[in-house]
Amino acid sequence: MDYIDPHIHMVSRITDDYETLARMGCVALSEPAFWAGFDRGTVDGFRDYFRQLTEVEPKRAAQYGIQHFCWLCINAKEAENVSLSREVIAMIPEFIHKPNVLGIGEIGLNKNTRNEAIVFLEHMELAIQYEQQILIHTPHLEDKFQGTRMILDMLTSDRRIDRNRVLVDHVEEHTVRHVLDEGFWAGMTLYPVTKCTPSRAADIIEMYGPERLMVNSAGDWGPSKPTAVPDFIMEMRRRKHPESLIRKIVYENPLQYFSQSQGFRFTPRDASETVDAR
Ligand SMILES: [Zn+2]
Repeated sequence: MDYIDPHIHMVSRITDDYETLARMGCVALSEPAFWAGFDRGTVDGFRDYFRQLTEVEPKRAAQYGIQHFCWLCINAKEAENVSLSREVIAMIPEFIHKPNVLGIGEIGLNKNTRNEAIVFLEHMELAIQYEQQILIHTPHLEDKFQGTRMILDMLTSDRRIDRNRVLVDHVEEHTVRHVLDEGFWAGMTLYPVTKCTPSRAADIIEMYGPERLMVNSAGDWGPSKPTAVPDFIMEMRRRKHPESLIRKIVYENPLQYFSQSQGFRFTPRDASETVDAR
């Protein structure tokens, strides 16, 4: 089955992973900007990273027939450094109109600190100013519920935010309803250590239905499985869910969400028709 992984960090994966993803049916993916495994020291470190996301990775993906899209920001882990964060936010407009950029992300909270909230709000302002979509990282484990609540409060208290253009990621059983009820899109990250498993994601689909829900693999520096979306497809088949329902979650929903972005130009594998932005 053709699928789209809406959240995977390919800079941290080897080229063989692209080949494996292509064999598994991955036709497109989106890569949010994130932590490099260490704190970067300068705005130029981020400038080079954004070149990697907008110039290098699309070519690496294209060798295997995968279309690569990305999101730009300074992540929550590095947002404690507010002055560096402000320099990065001021530099992002250099890249915002590159052809594979979908918006601002993954912004969010890590330890739910005041500095993280300040930098989150300044990213939000940038997204509004440039009419960009937003992709959000919610904290893990014991910080998730409170952090998700703080993020939803910041988003919903600003009337300029179009909730249909915001994807809140890493939702779990205790946060998914809050995100969907407020009118946002929600992503479930399938992960061997923290976050959700394929079977828990299938449970959540059985509880809440497929509207505005997606699944992703994260595929980052830590122990993670870049083929977690195919694992979810197998779990849904094992439970005898129809192919049309599975396809909606792993292909049509990401397509529908991404299509609201000016940077989204997608050529489906089985049609000559190109899906353009609005
Ligand atoms: Zn991520």
